[in-house]
Amino acid sequence: MNVKEIGVIGSGTMGNGIAHVFALAGFEVHLVDVKEEFLNRALQTIEKNLNRQVKKEVITAEQVTETLQRIHTSTDLSACKNVDLVVEAVTENESVKKEVFQKLDALCKPETIFASNTSSISITVLASVTGRPDRFVGMHFMNPVPVMKLVEIIRGFATSDETRDIVFELTKKLDKVPVEVNDYPGFVSNRILMPMINEAIFCLMEGVADRDAIDTVMKLGMSHPMGPLQLADFIGLDVCLAIMNVLYEGFKDPKYRPCPLLVKMVNSGNLGRKTGRGFYEYGK
Ligand code: NAD
Repeated sequence: MNVKEIGVIGSGTMGNGIAHVFALAGFEVHLVDVKEEFLNRALQTIEKNLNRQVKKEVITAEQVTETLQRIHTSTDLSACKNVDLVVEAVTENESVKKEVFQKLDALCKPETIFASNTSSISITVLASVTGRPDRFVGMHFMNPVPVMKLVEIIRGFATSDETRDIVFELTKKLDKVPVEVNDYPGFVSNRILMPMINEAIFCLMEGVADRDAIDTVMKLGMSHPMGPLQLADFIGLDVCLAIMNVLYEGFKDPKYRPCPLLVKMVNSGNLGRKTGRGFYEYGK
């Protein structure tokens, strides 16, 4: 299969990064979101991040113009009707994702491959609402997408070898490293990362140490580039809570219970960097 056109659904933190790396690698990208203003904001972010790569001499100024010309935006999913691969990056909510895939299944060519960038929701469950579970796979990009090398490739129950091979090759064309994992709640990355972040929030809630002490212990003591509370803000506290809930429900094990302070912060609307405040303050 010769993959040329890509659909990216959702233009938030992850979707704009996924559109960025595919367009930079020469693919035509159709980026879809529910509101024009979200798409405009995504294009601004992509341009800013491309210019940052120019400053670092990773790409040239001409590549910025060419990359932006390859990104086409729409609020209508039917913009994806001719694409060869769709990467879904909408809100981490099972019913929202299922609805998107059902609509895409009716719109797209039968051979189009569907990939979800979900952090934790079962690929097998999402694939089951489509008529193409063999052409359905998890492509879990890391944040920030233009910088991070890993793509966790998740095989659902019915994902075919051919689909796996195509997305492996595509990932390499993006200059990223694919790693195959099986479909279990949280896969590998978030099965390990998110309980650590949740535990850091418990430490804060219980007064074991203050925010800066917790992050400094993990940065200087464990050589983590960011402390867990700073990382939670970066990921988005709503995304962290959604992942903990998937782990908790998926394993029925109390060790995955979301910290009440995390729940409280999400309920307060303080979701981290994207809202200007989480464990840290970011201004406008
Ligand atoms: P986000 O909230 O920043 O963006 C989600 C976007 O999806 C929003 O712009 C929203 O308007 C759009 N959207 C919602 N419903 C839609 C629909 N029906 N059609 C089209 N667009 C729709 O979220 P995010 O952090 O970018 O997360 C997106 C996905 O990526 C989630 O599944 C998340 O778990 C996963 N993920 C997130 C991170 C991270 O660090 N934030 C890392 C890896 C994977």
